[in-house]
Amino acid sequence: MDRADSQDRALRARAEAVIPGGMYGHQSTVLLPDDYPQFFARGEGAHIWDEDGRRYLDLMCAYGPNLFGYANPEIDAAFVRRLGLGDTLTGPTALMVELAEALTALVSHAEWAIFCKNGTDATSMALSISRAHTGRRVVVRARGAYHGAAAWCTPRPAGVIDSDRAHQLFCDYNDVASLEAAVAEAGDDLACIFAAPFRHDAFVDQAEPDPAYACRARQLCDERGALLVVDEVRAGLRLARDCSWSRLGVQPDLSTWGKCIANGHALSALLGSDKARSAAASVYATGSFWFQAAPMAAALETLRLVRETDYLERITALGERLRVGLDERARAAGFGFRQTGPATLPLFLFDDDPDLRKGFCFASAMLARGVYVHPWHNMFICAAMTEADIDSALDAAESAFDELRRRAGALPPVEKLAFLTAGAR
Ligand code: PMP
Repeated sequence: MDRADSQDRALRARAEAVIPGGMYGHQSTVLLPDDYPQFFARGEGAHIWDEDGRRYLDLMCAYGPNLFGYANPEIDAAFVRRLGLGDTLTGPTALMVELAEALTALVSHAEWAIFCKNGTDATSMALSISRAHTGRRVVVRARGAYHGAAAWCTPRPAGVIDSDRAHQLFCDYNDVASLEAAVAEAGDDLACIFAAPFRHDAFVDQAEPDPAYACRARQLCDERGALLVVDEVRAGLRLARDCSWSRLGVQPDLSTWGKCIANGHALSALLGSDKARSAAASVYATGSFWFQAAPMAAALETLRLVRETDYLERITALGERLRVGLDERARAAGFGFRQTGPATLPLFLFDDDPDLRKGFCFASAMLARGVYVHPWHNMFICAAMTEADIDSALDAAESAFDELRRRAGALPPVEKLAFLTAGAR
């Protein structure tokens, strides 16, 4: 697709001058195919429009925040109403208490809440509270699991010094022996075990949590007086109307939430049990925008929809429809195509695709057919999607697989990703 004269290209050129690298973080231009748009003009329901007016069915859902549709009328009306009364005030509004009550009623292990802005705020605070609670230093967490962009957990080394990464030990997700070994190595210095709800690392197949791993993590924390933290920032509310490990019979001491809890408005939360309450009260936690009222109004409306609608059952059914349909079409086209993880957070990867050239080609072919997918990160299903949307994605996939088959012998290598894929695979 020739985009030489596009608005997106023009914006990228201007961004090069005033934004480091032209873009940063997960939208950094090296991470996606070159024909992916960088800038978007608007979103509505399950769709986004780029700056050139092209409309896409968006299977990324803003990397999670879009759960009930972009510009959801009920949620955004609550947000706008509250904006009109003032948002960032000298202190919080009553909505803060109401929201803490709503979250602690929803999430079984939770007896208190602290609100912040980004997932990283919540995960970093969970680490501090674990250290304050235990008076110890070490966090055990799974290799390759993402918990945010602060110095202690960023996946990239630039700007990080050894002391930022001190007192961390790693295990392999779902590997009980490696978890036990890391905990043993921590000895009497174990503050907490961090866990993702399931393995949702980039570039590799996702994996459901093994109940034996989850139970052992709980047991080890109890034996050592350490805290168990489940990081629900990405998967929260897409697996359960509760902390997702409650389905395994495991309750954490702390859980971290963000992304979709206010359907895209800036809010994250750390939830905790009574055990960690006094440590939580002792840690200095704050930010200029942490008490904003409007995102809390949006969150209350989001949680009402969580409680009162069948959104979870619908997004699960939609995700399964997508998975079954993609499987059929990939098989018919003769591709080894792996779909892993829960249906509401799908990831697909091609067999025999070490530098992701098939994945990039397929993603570009989907984009050209109006469907925004990701070649190596999990995607997200939202409640604004319909069966017709999923079927349109399947039609696009059928013809994208066709294109991939035609071009399979001559796909360009994806050199720009080599620095990342080499380590992950
Ligand atoms: N934890 C997990 C599991 C995440 O997926 C993310 C964000 N992708 C974070 C923490 C950090 O959240 P944020 O980007 O809002 O700081």
